Amino acid sequence: MTTTPLTTPPAEPVTPLFFDTHCHVDYIVRNGRPLNDVVADAAAVGWMVNPGTCIAQLPDVLAVAEQVPHIYAAAAIHPTDVADQPADWQAHLHAAMAHPKVVAVGETGLDYYRPEQQAPGNQALQRDCLETHLDLARQYNKPVIIHDREAHADVQAILRNHPGVVGVMHCFSGDLAFAMAMIELGYYISFAGNVTFKNATTLQHAAQQVPLERLLIETDAPFLSPMPHRGTPNSPDRVALVGQFIAGLRSMPVDELATVTTQNAKRLFKI
Ligand SMILES: [Zn+2]
Ligand SMILES: [Zn+2]
Repeated sequence: MTTTPLTTPPAEPVTPLFFDTHCHVDYIVRNGRPLNDVVADAAAVGWMVNPGTCIAQLPDVLAVAEQVPHIYAAAAIHPTDVADQPADWQAHLHAAMAHPKVVAVGETGLDYYRPEQQAPGNQALQRDCLETHLDLARQYNKPVIIHDREAHADVQAILRNHPGVVGVMHCFSGDLAFAMAMIELGYYISFAGNVTFKNATTLQHAAQQVPLERLLIETDAPFLSPMPHRGTPNSPDRVALVGQFIAGLRSMPVDELATVTTQNAKRLFKI
């Protein structure tokens, strides 16, 4: 057993800077990392939103938010999970909307990436489910967290049919024109670690050009670690790497980017 020598100086206090608008802290904890360690590692992250993905794991998401004051929650069915939900999933989401730490409906959206999601029946179910989530967002006056993988046109068409609902395009994967179209509908654009990948030039162009007042950053941890950690499990502290990278693209100080993206996230999530 090792003990910390008394001569070790206290860790430098870190001023919380970053808002990680999308991290699955509940996944990281289920994968075996203690919640206290995840939070301690992310001392520079002053705010996080932990989105839900299915009814079975929603209690974990809420428990994380109940234990950590600066972690907020969202509740929804992830598009790749729509086929596996209990019949009363909507009742669970309605109940979650009353929870004081639930700041959004999310994550919902469309994911046409994997073969099983390319079956017409599954895609129709995903679209139905997204519409239900958008109605829920309107009913409870909460923003939505949109997951869009290989489904830009359908996402855009459905969001356009729900004017007045606002939210965030999480882990944005389109080009600048698509980002601007989403901003026009009232959405924020959130970039994740994939913006740092070498071949992501279209994404980098969008991250450089979107209006600063609509820009957000996230990790999507434990997925999508930014460079130089690509391929390893991600964690919320690495939102700093995403922020540094985008600050570099925009030739602005990282502190300023952190401040503005935090203000944006607080405005969106009403924190
Ligand atoms: Zn997602
Ligand atoms: Zn996610």
